[in-house]
Amino acid sequence: MDEMLWRHSCPGRIGMRHMRTMNTIPLLLASALMLSACGTSNGQTASKNPTMDTNNQYDHSTNPYYSHTDTAKLDVPLAEWKKILPEDLYYIAFEKGTERAFTGKYWDFDGIGTYACAVCGNVLFRADSKFASSCGWPSFFQPERKDAIHYHADNAFGMIRTETTCGRCGAHLGHVFDDGPKPTGQRYCINSVSLDFIGKK
Ligand code: FE
Repeated sequence: MDEMLWRHSCPGRIGMRHMRTMNTIPLLLASALMLSACGTSNGQTASKNPTMDTNNQYDHSTNPYYSHTDTAKLDVPLAEWKKILPEDLYYIAFEKGTERAFTGKYWDFDGIGTYACAVCGNVLFRADSKFASSCGWPSFFQPERKDAIHYHADNAFGMIRTETTCGRCGAHLGHVFDDGPKPTGQRYCINSVSLDFIGKK
């Protein structure tokens, strides 16, 4: 899974255990490319794969907290999340990891339905707020409801960004930028790993 996880200027940051496996110079070059790509990410490229499998990408049968209707805030110890969640999801959600651009399940997907937090099931976005962005991560111009997402100042890596987390479970999702399309002008840049797509039936 290490190969799939990469730092970029949108969702989060790479964990130290992953940094140790990389060469410094290639990492800097890759980061610079990612920064450049994400800085101009509101291009309107065509989305693909509208008919791909729309089932959740995880098995939630052992996750007692997962719900699309319960909006009560959760206070689950990290040790418990670590037992319940797949390794890649735990890394993104609670170690502020990032999937590599253009590798996630949903960056160029435009199915009809909603997107939920892959950790707790909290509904985060409607598919009709998703737009085709050239940044390589799923991008939305507004959340499904006001409290679905929480916001935090993130000054890591010499950048001033706004981190987004799930309003129910606190999982890291990505970041929000003010270079999105109308009507909000915002771009919620979210890791595919953090999302479950719920197809409209
Ligand atoms: Fe959540």
